[in-house]
Amino acid sequence: MEIIVCVKQVPDTTEIKIDPVTNALIRQGVPSIVNPFDKNALEAALRLREKHGGKITVVSMGPPQAKEALKECLAMGADHAVLVSDRAFSGSDTLATSYTLAAAMRKVGHCDMILCGKQAIDGDTAQVGPEIAEHLGIAQVTYVSKIEISDNTVRVERENEDGYAILEVELPVLLSVVKSINEPRLPTIKGTLKANRTEIPVWTAADLDVDTEKLGFKGSPTQVRKTFTPPQRAHSTVIQKDTAREAVAELIQKLSDAKIV
Ligand code: FAD
Repeated sequence: MEIIVCVKQVPDTTEIKIDPVTNALIRQGVPSIVNPFDKNALEAALRLREKHGGKITVVSMGPPQAKEALKECLAMGADHAVLVSDRAFSGSDTLATSYTLAAAMRKVGHCDMILCGKQAIDGDTAQVGPEIAEHLGIAQVTYVSKIEISDNTVRVERENEDGYAILEVELPVLLSVVKSINEPRLPTIKGTLKANRTEIPVWTAADLDVDTEKLGFKGSPTQVRKTFTPPQRAHSTVIQKDTAREAVAELIQKLSDAKIV
């Protein structure tokens, strides 16, 4: 099994700061982490490799500091890492990001499976994985919570609002995974030492077979007009009583008064 895992380095905060002029995320001065869902994707890849053999390559598009995220993935057990980084990529929206990452994946070479997180905790669009699959012309399944492989087929459980669906797809396939799929392992000391010794290649636009018109700001058809925290519309009421029975009685009374029940 040749597996590529897409890993994004994200700010370690839920308080995302936005540049008021460009509307882009401010990353400077904010500590960074591996996007948590991408760790689930890597853990899934590591378990598949333990069962079926093969190699895992982690790929990230980002600034030079994203090497730290890739090193953590190597320390967890990935075989190879590639950073895709160039000023030409800055200002990329999800389409330009996925176009660039898909080109990087073609350069990695043969691959049976691409694993992504279900979404990045900063951008939050959940678009990059499905778009990569479209660029590469391969099948995709999102919100995957279980993966089993037999021969050339992968059987997955896909979470939905009512439970899950079971789907069978032929390889090669792109899967985006949810948190419940596994508990990511911690990096080992041996893995960390090895990762620190590993030179991570950096691929620029010149290394990829790309149309430069489709990169960065130029290649981004969407623009962020405004970013804001939506105003709170509903006010909550806490019902505190001596017993649960009294609290439930008051809740029912309130719902009844409001003609909800
Ligand atoms: P999602 O689609 O939610 O991520 C899903 C999964 O895809 C992740 O779990 C991961 O597995 C994979 N993935 C996502 N991104 C990457 C990555 N970079 N490398 C590897 N795997 C990845 N960001 C900037 O930093 N600077 C900018 O100037 C900038 N300009 C933007 C302009 C516009 C108009 C828009 C719409 C966005 C801009 N962004 C910018 C944000 C940038 O487009 C997104 O960070 C990026 O496309 C990923 O989208 P997402 O965070 O929603 O990821």
